[in-house]
Amino acid sequence: MTNGEHIREEDLLLLALGALPDDEATNLLAHAKSCAECAAKLAEERGHAATLAFAAKQEIPAATVKVELLARIHAEREKEEHYKWPLKKDEVRQIPSPKKDGTSMNEGKLNWLQWVLIPVAAVFLIATALMWKSNRELKAELAKANHDLIDIQNQRQRTEMIVDVLSAPDTVSVRMAGSGESAKSIGSANYNARRGVLLYTAVLPPLPQDKVYQMWLVPTTGSPISAGVFSPGPHGNRELWTATIPLNTQAKAFAVTIEPAGGVPQPTGPKVLLGAS
Ligand SMILES: [Zn+2]
Repeated sequence: MTNGEHIREEDLLLLALGALPDDEATNLLAHAKSCAECAAKLAEERGHAATLAFAAKQEIPAATVKVELLARIHAEREKEEHYKWPLKKDEVRQIPSPKKDGTSMNEGKLNWLQWVLIPVAAVFLIATALMWKSNRELKAELAKANHDLIDIQNQRQRTEMIVDVLSAPDTVSVRMAGSGESAKSIGSANYNARRGVLLYTAVLPPLPQDKVYQMWLVPTTGSPISAGVFSPGPHGNRELWTATIPLNTQAKAFAVTIEPAGGVPQPTGPKVLLGAS
């Protein structure tokens, strides 16, 4: 109790810091509610306390610090009171004993200092998380850019190769034609034996899912050589397919057959295009 007196100077800062025992703080705050003078002083001390909180390094004090401090304050006060009044037994102040779990903060209520520090800590945590995230995104973007660059380089190399082969004087151009059911189908093969490159294109009807077209180079001697499988684009788009053939293979003819999906080592299905070299 304040016994009608104003809040002591030394209690004001402790009260502002939330460092007084709950019952004592409650009494003093009740007084400050009805006393404009003490309320003003308390507000001022809260300002000082805030300044201290930001100036001081954020360290958690040892659990014993507050207890020792309060013990000293109460000892001083009892000495004063001893001289002021005859000491009554029921007025002997109890020195608070340390909490069993060793915490020094008032439990069950967060003091204003914690309300300041928790948001500050949260802001740092969020900032760290954002930096980590943007770093990860940058790495992913860089990886994608590298990947795109490789794609562009591959595309350019392929284009250069195609132009080289098509413009080489020793490249032969062979027209392929269909017969019977595939009479309307056409194709063309551009073959450079020296470079071992075959470029071909064809206009053919779409096939069922389990079938593919397979391109063959028929050499002057030996069995047909596969030049890969292909399927026409969704709208019958003409594509240019490329194949690598063993160097200096002399071609007699070029043919396209219908084969099971994945292709076969030697032609088995119906021949839909044929062109003699
Ligand atoms: Zn007062």
